[in-house]
Amino acid sequence: MASNFGSKYDLCPDFFAVYFKNGIILDGNLPVGFHAAMQRLIVDMDGVLADAHAQFITYHERDTKIRKTLAETIGLSELEISPRSNEHILEPGFFRDAPVIADSQEVLEKLNRRYELFIVSAATEYPTSLVEKIAWLQEHFPFVTWQQIVLCGSKKIVCGDIMIDDHFKNLDHFAGRTLLFTQPHNQKAGNKHHERVNSWKEVAQLLL
Ligand SMILES: [Mg+2]
Repeated sequence: MASNFGSKYDLCPDFFAVYFKNGIILDGNLPVGFHAAMQRLIVDMDGVLADAHAQFITYHERDTKIRKTLAETIGLSELEISPRSNEHILEPGFFRDAPVIADSQEVLEKLNRRYELFIVSAATEYPTSLVEKIAWLQEHFPFVTWQQIVLCGSKKIVCGDIMIDDHFKNLDHFAGRTLLFTQPHNQKAGNKHHERVNSWKEVAQLLL
């Protein structure tokens, strides 16, 4: 559709055609947080809000009594940190007890007022994670409503204006602006065409 509303309508023409025709809203039941004038911001969970890396380190230490240093894990995939990582990720509590990444709560609350925010996590590979992730968000990010939480399989379905994620596989096919959140697993890689951010303070400097 011809866009008088901003880039999100160019990126998702079929979806927004449902809502708009000739500038008139056809469906009044728009999701909470939906504001046509705002840019849509897509934020990942693991490695961006939730410190999954710390969980892998902690679970490996629990099993082996050996604590890996950050330097030892630079360049390793999350699942390469421990031979049992594939089992750890299935354990109850792995996602529920993940530490919150520094400054994410304060910055995301401010972003939530300025952007149409959605938390998008590729979670359905691990079905038991779904309930844990929602409970984790409710505890640590209570300002995020259930309508703003999207738990999916592939993020190729996702469209918006800005995506913050720690994985190239999610950022590479995103049509909008892409912020690569630094994690040990992506630290040795280049940035490709993405903007690298090393902390939530850097996110705030770019987006607030
Ligand atoms: Mg992630």
